[in-house]
Amino acid sequence: MQTLQEKLSQTSQFLVGTEVVSVRGSMAEQSAVKAGAFAKQLVKCPAIDWISITDNAGGNPQLAPQALGKPILDAGKEVVIHLTCKDLNRNGLESEAWLLNSEGFHSILAMTGDHPSSGIEGLAKPVFDIDSVGLISMLNKMNQGFDPKDGDGNSKGQRLEKTRFCIGAVTTNYKLREGEVMPQYFKLRKKIEAGAQFIINQIGFDSRKDSELRLYMDQHGMKPVPLIGNVYLLNPRVAQLFHEGRIPGIVLTQPLLDLCLKHGQSADGGRSFFCEFAAKRIAIYRGLGYRGVYLAGMHNFAVIERILEIERTFAPDDWKQFAREIRFSRPGEYFHYAENPATGLADVAAPNPGAKIKSKHVGPVYHLSKWTHDLMFSPGHALTNCGAYLCRHSADPSQGPKPMRVLEHLSKAVLFQCKDCGDCSLPEIAFLCPESQCAKNQRNGPCGGTREGRCEVDRYGDCIWLRAYERLKHEGREQDLLQHVLVVQNQGLRGTSSWANFWLGRDHTAKKDHPTPPAEADSTAKH
Ligand code: SF4
Repeated sequence: MQTLQEKLSQTSQFLVGTEVVSVRGSMAEQSAVKAGAFAKQLVKCPAIDWISITDNAGGNPQLAPQALGKPILDAGKEVVIHLTCKDLNRNGLESEAWLLNSEGFHSILAMTGDHPSSGIEGLAKPVFDIDSVGLISMLNKMNQGFDPKDGDGNSKGQRLEKTRFCIGAVTTNYKLREGEVMPQYFKLRKKIEAGAQFIINQIGFDSRKDSELRLYMDQHGMKPVPLIGNVYLLNPRVAQLFHEGRIPGIVLTQPLLDLCLKHGQSADGGRSFFCEFAAKRIAIYRGLGYRGVYLAGMHNFAVIERILEIERTFAPDDWKQFAREIRFSRPGEYFHYAENPATGLADVAAPNPGAKIKSKHVGPVYHLSKWTHDLMFSPGHALTNCGAYLCRHSADPSQGPKPMRVLEHLSKAVLFQCKDCGDCSLPEIAFLCPESQCAKNQRNGPCGGTREGRCEVDRYGDCIWLRAYERLKHEGREQDLLQHVLVVQNQGLRGTSSWANFWLGRDHTAKKDHPTPPAEADSTAKH
């Protein structure tokens, strides 16, 4: 069996993966038997290159993906296991990754994951100990055979066996505001630097944004990483759900909903329209130079065959017309590149300059925080050296001098709703605290869940990454966002002085060990 990694790196073929959504209950459950039967049909289909299995999709508890994946793997088909950070901390994720490697699952789609939405006896407590970038970096380290350290950071002198994971990541640019779109691009770069070897985009319905993603990656040195397009088979019920924003990060506009409802009224309930729509999306991705497609929302093998068959009937240039048709963006939506009037897609020659954002998020607290930070934490500055000296010579160097600790604790609690994590990310997020103001404690860029700028967990208001982008954009330095070193928060610092930890080089800012980028996969995608 040729693995996904081999197919991505050694062939130029257009790949097709499909998704099997896990179920709640054991393998004996009716829905699991059905999912297993569907997977069995997919295994026999040579046009399907891999089968992806979801991990507690939508934030609901479900059967672990390995249970459904094992028979598929044993039958000789490549399986991509989805691994998310919402239900397991870094140790749980590492343990899960060792299990996957031992059982022969070598392809992982690493994601932050949806916020939990249910659980026995009430809502589950979310974990989010690390995020997707931290998870990708961890899997990449496992691929290199790392040297485990003890609690004090000392080597145990034992290099672990290398895993051989093909690591995938997800991105989305189907966002409304500039402060949502651009941080997603910056985070994508971070994922690739951390070790992502292929990228799948979010469900969306706008060819101009699809072409923009391809173009942005090409223009920012990300071309060698294969890009896979998401193709979702719609129906009127799902279109309504998407339109209502019931699935985090997925947008379906009113005109597209109207179209779906109209076709839903036809004699076949819109089945032929939706199959053709999905086939057109495949053709568009092929035409745009994506390396393959990820088929989702399809639970019937005959339907998948039908869609692939329709796509085969298209002429090579038909996708250009389809791309003009399927452009369901929202009024006022931000695009990084201008529209090419001839194609309706992103124009390589005309970047969109972007307007100067008047941000409601810039105020005296931001200016005061910036000024104080520069004064106290700039390398070589007198106050920086003085702070380091005082902490080093205090009774407890993890807390620093008592009056200073009280001042730190009080001022940060009042100004930033600080939770005293001891490994502070405030300067990297324009003085917004991810512990108190981000539902997922995201420290390496936004998750994909925003809706028109707001956090997927509504009570959190505007996403901290949008607010940070707007603060920096206000000063003309938005490109500085996410330029910081990868943050994997050290929970051992919780309750200690973040000032002392910075001055004495104990927090993440002192780490310079960027992960080694993976061997470049050869993207022979046409564009
Ligand atoms: S604040 Fe932003 S990054 Fe954090 S969970 Fe909400 S949408 Fe995601």
